[in-house]
Amino acid sequence: MSEVTVRRNVLLNPGPATTTDTVKMAQVVPDICPREEEFGTIMRELSTDLLRTVHAPADTYEAVLFCGSGTLAMDVCVNSLLPAGKKLLVLNNGAYSSRAADIARAYGLELIDCQQPVDRPFDVAAAQAALDADADIAVVYTTHQETGTGVLNPIRELAEVVHAHEAIFIVDTTSTLAMRPIDVVRDGIDFCMASSQKGIQGMTGLAFIIGRRDIIEASREYPVRSYYCNLYQQYAYFRENGQMHFTPPVQVIYAARQALREYFAEGEAVKWQRHTETMTAIHEGLAALGFREVIPRAYQAGLVAAVAYPDDPHWSFERVHDACYAQGFTIYPGKMQGQGTFRLCALGAITAADIAAFFRVLREVLTELGVAIPVHYEK
Ligand SMILES: *Cc1c(COP(=O)(O)O)cnc(C)c1O
Repeated sequence: MSEVTVRRNVLLNPGPATTTDTVKMAQVVPDICPREEEFGTIMRELSTDLLRTVHAPADTYEAVLFCGSGTLAMDVCVNSLLPAGKKLLVLNNGAYSSRAADIARAYGLELIDCQQPVDRPFDVAAAQAALDADADIAVVYTTHQETGTGVLNPIRELAEVVHAHEAIFIVDTTSTLAMRPIDVVRDGIDFCMASSQKGIQGMTGLAFIIGRRDIIEASREYPVRSYYCNLYQQYAYFRENGQMHFTPPVQVIYAARQALREYFAEGEAVKWQRHTETMTAIHEGLAALGFREVIPRAYQAGLVAAVAYPDDPHWSFERVHDACYAQGFTIYPGKMQGQGTFRLCALGAITAADIAAFFRVLREVLTELGVAIPVHYEK
């Protein structure tokens, strides 16, 4: 197996992330039925390790695993934790919180979609006002880093306001968990979630929710709104049988176990430092070419740069993308309505040296296309 070599691509998109060879190879295992005790042991180890990524105490928090991408974990949290007759408040300043609101609409839930500008952190006073306006709000949902813009939301401050109203607080941490340090107790997070292809640097296909066990237990009484995506049922089945209710993503779980071993070997602080250095190299490389970022640095979570398209007739995101892709670097379109942006992200097993290599390629590509350097903006 050691003779197998896989080409290394540098993914600058917001997930799936670049993985190590050892994580890729961890998927190549003897066929196994996931109902075997051996596999149950792996899933228990995985659940325990996932709790540790956010410093969740094992006596009060639980990690619940599902087969799916990150949106599945959002779906589970939105549909499973709302008592009958109560309302869900979404603190919405970006594409991912909008997605959570869409999920709530799809289930026909009582929703308050509290929208704020996408180019800055969510205003705590606006959250306070929304909570004050409605006594029936039982669940509040927001996104830690809005991945479309890279904006960081003030989770700890929001949690105080939410808990003062005795609501539960769900935070989508899909694009921060195992990158930007999170401590669920310190940060006031009742439920958070992510998927294996992002911060932990695994493969796509495993979604997980980390949340308070007492609330999961209480949710047993809530309406079952989905057969496959119900949090309590998955939790209860795993407790009883040590297995996921339905077929787990077997090979993805082996890769996730390896990825978590590598995560703890690297260490939370060292890994965050690496991402920070990668992001610094991105900022510097962009500035050297004259590119403008659309979100002020103070508002950024430190993992995503959203960059304005230059005003140059030779600029074409598609052509730049294709030329970079051919050389092993993947850049990604933006997610800001009415504004041409692209994104460069610091997720995955990449370093500042990869970013330096990327900017050498980007400079050549821009030159070949006839885009003026430094790039030009009309205003
Ligand atoms: C990536 C991401 C998700 C999940 O997306 P999938 O494509 O379903 O894996 C959810 N929330 C945020 C904030 C994300 O960045």
